[in-house]
Amino acid sequence: MVEAFVRLVCPECDKEWQDNPTEVPGLRTNFSCPACHATRRLAEFMRTERDLETVRQFQ
Ligand SMILES: [Zn+2]
Repeated sequence: MVEAFVRLVCPECDKEWQDNPTEVPGLRTNFSCPACHATRRLAEFMRTERDLETVRQFQ
């Protein structure tokens, strides 16, 4: 079964949100937190290993 969303959390400010796995950029792409604008690779914003795997399925 395919997840309809992935859960993200900012490693800098702990903001939590959800996004559509088909709409997020590549896991190795730099991504900026919408709250504190910290920039890290998208993979570092994945809340769990399972969220990471979900995004991988769409890339
Ligand atoms: Zn943040």
